Amino acid sequence: MHTQKLKKTVPPFLAGMMFSILTLSSCKTTNPSKSEAAAFDATNLKVIKGFTILENLPQAFTWYASYRQILTFALGEDPGDPLDASDGNYQILQDKVNKLWSTYQQLHPDRIGGVPAPLVVILQNIDANAFATYDRATGIDPNIFFVNTGLLTEKFKKNSAILGVIAHELAHHALGHTKPGESEKVSKFYRKSSGSEPLGRLQKNDEGIEKAVGSWIEAAQMVGPFPLPELTGYPAPTIGTPFLYTAAMAAAAANSTRESCQQLPGIAFEASRAVSQNLNHATQTIHFSKPESLSLIRASAGKYNTSLRSCLEGVQVSIMDILLALQKTTEEKALDGSFLSSKELGVIKRKGNLAESLIEFAQLMSERKAKINRELNLDLFRIYTFEEQADDEAIQALLQLGLDSAPLTTFFRLSVPEEHLAACDSSASSNTIPPYGILSDKHHSICYRIFHAAEVEKSLRAQ
Ligand SMILES: [Zn+2]
Repeated sequence: MHTQKLKKTVPPFLAGMMFSILTLSSCKTTNPSKSEAAAFDATNLKVIKGFTILENLPQAFTWYASYRQILTFALGEDPGDPLDASDGNYQILQDKVNKLWSTYQQLHPDRIGGVPAPLVVILQNIDANAFATYDRATGIDPNIFFVNTGLLTEKFKKNSAILGVIAHELAHHALGHTKPGESEKVSKFYRKSSGSEPLGRLQKNDEGIEKAVGSWIEAAQMVGPFPLPELTGYPAPTIGTPFLYTAAMAAAAANSTRESCQQLPGIAFEASRAVSQNLNHATQTIHFSKPESLSLIRASAGKYNTSLRSCLEGVQVSIMDILLALQKTTEEKALDGSFLSSKELGVIKRKGNLAESLIEFAQLMSERKAKINRELNLDLFRIYTFEEQADDEAIQALLQLGLDSAPLTTFFRLSVPEEHLAACDSSASSNTIPPYGILSDKHHSICYRIFHAAEVEKSLRAQ
């Protein structure tokens, strides 16, 4: 989930790299009490096939304490306290992980044969999720797997939905997607066939499409995917977190003694909600039920920009400075493969008023997206991504265990707001292909993932 290139996803975990922003001024984080965690010493730990083996829960907790603040930035909130090691759920979850891990070992003996199953750490967090991560601070890939207590509730027992989400997340760990630069190697760009939907994993990469669509994706990753002129200058974190939003929040955190900077996250949330309220999460499309919605969004975006200007008054750094600090990379690497024009480059490198640069650059990225939207029908293009690969792998692992894709699709259905689920069901019953979702979201839309899971299962069973 890491990358050093502008053209690729700015993944959530990158947001955690903002400690270097300390150089701008003193950085106060959302959880300052935990900012003094000692660095983790991994020198005496065993490393097998690139995974650093943590032997027991106390060791895993120590590593987590050292990395928790980075994860807090990455996830946008504190991931939570670990559940006490004596809790009976550890054994239950570790058994599930062990079972899936040996399945992945059968599927990928070269990659993970001989690597012990990752150690489960349960975090007290109501968000129904699990995740693996790479430690950028020490450069190790800890053999740990996190599961939130939100997944331990009754509803995820249905059709073993918890097994589905663990299978997907564990595929990221097994395939090394968390390691810097790895997930990008999976991507393949292609065109959809008329009337049918080819399986991404069977497609070849089309360089022409990669170039055309990549330019749009770069802009969408900077400023957000939605083509609303009302949003110009406001990088709404709706589906994914646009880089210009992360950059603004990092700069605000670095100036957190200012009242306007303290207020900025709240104002950003308000502005974001104005967009989210009209967003269908199942299909990733925006519908405006009320005509006043657009003026509400315009007003919210305006308020965000006003607050940003006040918060960053007198801050004279470039957007590139922040990008390099967040991604711990060099300018050359950051720009490798980028589609930025000389005008766009001028703004991103300008060491002037940061707020003005952020707002102007957001505008330029919005214009670029609008231009490509006029020239290309983006609905015709597809990208096979590491997220799709994790879904495909999860289904293969579930089949290998004698199950079907239901654990995964049940989890998808449980994560869709009920009022949006009808959109998935109607497309399934009418035999139409659900909307793919926005191209900058590597997951694709939830409705599409449900449809895709059935297609993958069918194809694997036919093999
Ligand atoms: Zn994933």
